[in-house]
Amino acid sequence: MNRGRSRTKDTPTAMDQTLHQKIQTLYAGLPEVACQCCGLCCVSPTCTLAEFIYLFDHARRFLAPSDLRALLATPPQLHPDYEGNSRCPFLRDNRCGIHAGRTGACRLFGIPSLAHLRIDGMEQCKNTVQVTKGQSNIEYIEQWLNRLVRVNEELHPFGVEPYFLRGLNIHCWLDIYFDELFDFDIFGDIRRLLHANLDLAIPAPYYTPSTNLREKVDKIGILPSFVGCGDRMGVHKLLVSIRDDYPLTGTYFYEEVEKMLEIIDAHGPEHIAPS
Ligand code: SF4
Ligand code: SF4
Repeated sequence: MNRGRSRTKDTPTAMDQTLHQKIQTLYAGLPEVACQCCGLCCVSPTCTLAEFIYLFDHARRFLAPSDLRALLATPPQLHPDYEGNSRCPFLRDNRCGIHAGRTGACRLFGIPSLAHLRIDGMEQCKNTVQVTKGQSNIEYIEQWLNRLVRVNEELHPFGVEPYFLRGLNIHCWLDIYFDELFDFDIFGDIRRLLHANLDLAIPAPYYTPSTNLREKVDKIGILPSFVGCGDRMGVHKLLVSIRDDYPLTGTYFYEEVEKMLEIIDAHGPEHIAPS
């Protein structure tokens, strides 16, 4: 089945320059760390929509077409050390193959003050890295994250909620980009935005959607009806499946499920409010 896009006369070949400039300016405001290039943290990075466009715009411009096709044709592989994460496809011999376009998460990793963000399950760099340039206190990092959210809000007028618009791993974004099954509701809006700003010009069969994100989204969609029936065991089983059966979707809807399971165990399914 042809899931690729053909290049048409009207298709833009580069991302919107204003958006490009905004992301570039944001990234320039981040501190730098003396990363030891061990490659340990290089899982498929979670990034916002605007960052995904920026990252793959770099890939489109700076990777050889054959390398980009090979990257997209290779199914994601689970990372052996970071549960629920796949390896970043840009990692080559423990070096970043797309350094100038890498995401904010990649740029932030290793900054000691991130520990204060208290994000459940967030790993820290296990090496002792030094901040070599720029501000790195937690107040500044929080302000920076808010600025990133605002750039995304300007990009998609339907807002930043639900939270997946703020962060999906790059394999999930690729699935949405390539898979026509996402052409509905809010995902349809996202696909149109992606395609308006990013022309990967990759013909089939170079990409095969691989995270099963679509199936997971469908299960999340039927959750309210299960809750409405008050079927405690059914809701529990569905939540566990959403949490465990789609490891290549990374953190998507993981924390939400964990919180809902806690509430169900303590009070029953009628106390959760899936949206
Ligand atoms: S940030 Fe830390 S874990 Fe990641 S590659 Fe650099 S030294 Fe390794
Ligand atoms: S984009 Fe580069 S720095 Fe970020 S996870 Fe991939 S290889 Fe590592």
